[in-house]
Amino acid sequence: MHEWALAEAVISTAIKVAEEEKLKEITEIKIKLGELQQIEIEIFEFALKEIIQPQKQLLRKAKIEIETEKAILKCRVCGQEWNYGDAMKNLCEEESESIHFVPDIAHVYIRCPKCKSPDFEIVKGRGVWVESIEGN
Ligand SMILES: [Zn+2]
Repeated sequence: MHEWALAEAVISTAIKVAEEEKLKEITEIKIKLGELQQIEIEIFEFALKEIIQPQKQLLRKAKIEIETEKAILKCRVCGQEWNYGDAMKNLCEEESESIHFVPDIAHVYIRCPKCKSPDFEIVKGRGVWVESIEGN
């Protein structure tokens, strides 16, 4: 559902940057996608292509690259930082499945590897943004 809204935001950002930099055409848009952002990449890519359609002149040759940003967690008690992927390896399949669908539930299963506190924040790996735009 939010794939379309995100795709629209990405394209309007790209168009704004192109206007500011007086680009006649955009050749590449690099998008970063947080690991914990619940998004169906296929729907997102489809939405991007559909939204680009009426913008042919500017975006005709645009290559879209989507990169995933690894999620990093940080303990609020002791300051330890650790990798979300590593935390997931220690969980059983059922637990990681439920986190995949409801990321907030991560606090139930994931503990700080150092002090075992469940009180952590997600410092990286959320959101979608335009990393860079190239054109001429
Ligand atoms: Zn800790």
